Amino acid sequence: MPRQSVLVLNAGSSSLKYQVVDPLDGLVSTAGNVERIAESGMNAALTQLTGALDSAGVTSSDLVGVGHRVVHGGARFTAAAVVDDAVLAEVEELARLAPLHNPPAVDGIRHARAEFPDLPQVAVFDTAWFADLPIASATYALDAEVVARGGLRRFGMHGTSHAYVAAEAARFLGLAPTELDVVTLHLGNGASAAAVSRGRPVDTSMGLTPLEGLVMGTRAGDIDPGVLLHLLRHDGFDLDKLEDLLHHRSGLQGLAGLHDFRDLLNAVDSGDERAGTAYAVYCHRLRKYVGAYLAVLGGADAMVFTAGVGENVPRVREDALRGLGALGIEIAPELNRAASSIARRISSDGSRVAVLVVPTNEELAIARQVVDVLR
Ligand code: ADP
Repeated sequence: MPRQSVLVLNAGSSSLKYQVVDPLDGLVSTAGNVERIAESGMNAALTQLTGALDSAGVTSSDLVGVGHRVVHGGARFTAAAVVDDAVLAEVEELARLAPLHNPPAVDGIRHARAEFPDLPQVAVFDTAWFADLPIASATYALDAEVVARGGLRRFGMHGTSHAYVAAEAARFLGLAPTELDVVTLHLGNGASAAAVSRGRPVDTSMGLTPLEGLVMGTRAGDIDPGVLLHLLRHDGFDLDKLEDLLHHRSGLQGLAGLHDFRDLLNAVDSGDERAGTAYAVYCHRLRKYVGAYLAVLGGADAMVFTAGVGENVPRVREDALRGLGALGIEIAPELNRAASSIARRISSDGSRVAVLVVPTNEELAIARQVVDVLR
């Protein structure tokens, strides 16, 4: 293996995903997922990881660096950053904005520094691509003094994925990213939408934190802040309980008692009423964002579905976009239902908006950023 691959680490609260990928051709030499790290700790996860690299014949001399997926870069990180003590301290401080997401990433970076002391570690931020969102979409309409004091703004997440699929959509259509207005829909466990104009994002559904926007596996997405006041004042909620509700006990999980979309569809098909409601709420919210972002862009050339649900559930694509012919969107049912794992068009020839399914590849996108920042 030539010395050009990147070890990409995505450390979450319960698992450590890793991949050794060549940023030039996207070739993956080894990949895996160490589960339940909450119990055994990051040390054990790293040991398992290095064991897996050994078995795959990957040594640190094959690698140019380690790329870490970090959810929140705040206002400080508008691009990927080589990790030193100061950067690490800042990423740790940003846990204030992503209390469930940044700490495992920090833990992963610390352990990877110890494990691979001769390799540069690079933090790649989910928020970075949205750093220059227009003020109109980035700003919360709150007391300006409060906003300024807290540095409160809409940051957006999943930027690595939205940027990647927007560029891939352009490539698929034979255009440059700057020739295209596109709505990108990243539907995984977390979910977000973005409006992308001529290669730059102009709006996105996640905000200060990953709680805003679409209905997700365990998060509610958009909610009247009055609901939170009500829970605090009248329902015995304190901050910890509220945080747990918003992050873990809402969305599909809250409505149907299950957060995995496959389980949800099985429940819907077996006539489970709560699952039916959850599915309807999920699709309705998605449809609302599609409409909103078409308006934000003044019409789009393309729309992209990606991530676990976006790539694999034709029913969601169909239900979210049904009857939108007047907006230039017309799904071709047979194309939509055809199983495939590569980028494809699922709209009819007559559809003004090209509706695409584009598999995301966040690891490759992270690896490319690592190489760029080290260059
Ligand atoms: P994340 O990266 O946020 O963990 P993913 O992009 O892997 O999430 O998406 C996970 C979601 O996608 C889960 O809800 C899972 O059930 C759903 N999913 C993945 N594959 C399928 C499939 N073939 N059919 C239905 N849902 C799927």
